Amino acid sequence: MDNTVSIVKCASYDKAQYAVDAALELLGGIGRFVKKGDRVVIKPNLVSKKSPDEAATTHPQIVKAVIRAVERAGASVLIAESPGGPYNPAYLKSVYTGCGMVSAIEGTNAKLNYDTSFKEVSFKDGKTVKNIPLITPVLDADLIISLPKLKTHAMTSYTGAVKNMFGTIPGTHKAEMHFRLDDRRAFCSMLVDLYSCVNRVPVLSIMDGITGMEGDGPTAGKNRFIGVVMASQNAHALDMAACRIIDYTPDEVDTVKEAVERGLVCDSADKLNIVGEDINSLIIRDFIKPESHFNLLKLLSLPEGLNKRVVSALSSRPKMKYGECVGCGECMRCCPPKAITMINNKPVIDRDKCIKCFCCQELCPKKAVKIHRSLLNRLMLKILR
Ligand code: SF4
Ligand code: SF4
Repeated sequence: MDNTVSIVKCASYDKAQYAVDAALELLGGIGRFVKKGDRVVIKPNLVSKKSPDEAATTHPQIVKAVIRAVERAGASVLIAESPGGPYNPAYLKSVYTGCGMVSAIEGTNAKLNYDTSFKEVSFKDGKTVKNIPLITPVLDADLIISLPKLKTHAMTSYTGAVKNMFGTIPGTHKAEMHFRLDDRRAFCSMLVDLYSCVNRVPVLSIMDGITGMEGDGPTAGKNRFIGVVMASQNAHALDMAACRIIDYTPDEVDTVKEAVERGLVCDSADKLNIVGEDINSLIIRDFIKPESHFNLLKLLSLPEGLNKRVVSALSSRPKMKYGECVGCGECMRCCPPKAITMINNKPVIDRDKCIKCFCCQELCPKKAVKIHRSLLNRLMLKILR
């Protein structure tokens, strides 16, 4: 198990090339990972059509810097992503354009992927899933370079290198995964399986942690300057390092906790082999966690299988802000259990069907879905937090 993570400070995206090159140098240089003639797939985080300054997606300057490093090493680059929502060429084009990927490839030989085929891959070693549909480009690559964004996440608390691989599952198959695995721990266990499955093609992860997102990420939170670019061959180690910086313990993030239990990473950030900056000088103690992170069931050590009404009263849930809703219906289309109905052009949630995956919040283009807590929930949290 390699627990090495390189960390480089970076004050702005204008310096992205320097930071990416330095982070790679600290791991032994791009030549350690890329050979002349390789087909490299770059997998950014393009969760939905968001402009780069919203800090929800991997910044185009980071993507461009990585393309240049790979092309200098003599390999070809294909940018591939299955964003939230449909997986078809027209939608991909709008996401690539909106997220700045068209400008990222300008002046390079890199291409954007429009092949929307996929294959069902058998993964017998999977703990939670044994068959996983994966988009074709990641199966045909010699190397995958994953470019996660350092952000919070309403369902999984944090989204980073391991969770970035969720975008290798095609379109609506992602909603099926949410539906099948509606428990957060099971979902995170699936993410760890997924990462191991994709990692049969070597994966190198380089994290855009220059401006990240705090609060109700992955799309409805607030920009937060963090000022780092980090890289590792071990996505679990990279996530553990990122979590240390934004002040999560490994136990608080189920993908990290699961990786520790499976022996895929060391059990403490203190045991990581950090090269570059001193990680302890980078910790942001007041980094804002998503509202859903503070789970009363966990704080009170209550079993998840409690009476439905009690669980509902103690859990956070999505709530529409109708004043900001434009009635586009995106939340209804992306909702895995079809819990949302549009009535008079406004989305209405069937509470009994809602599995609290927060996909509606993630894909709402207007940040019109907020995370709501009952009065009882808020009062108890005030006492316990
Ligand atoms: S996605 Fe957002 S704006 Fe669109 S209908 Fe749903 S809540 Fe309204
Ligand atoms: S209403 Fe929102 S949180 Fe509930 S299941 Fe649908 S997408 Fe998930």
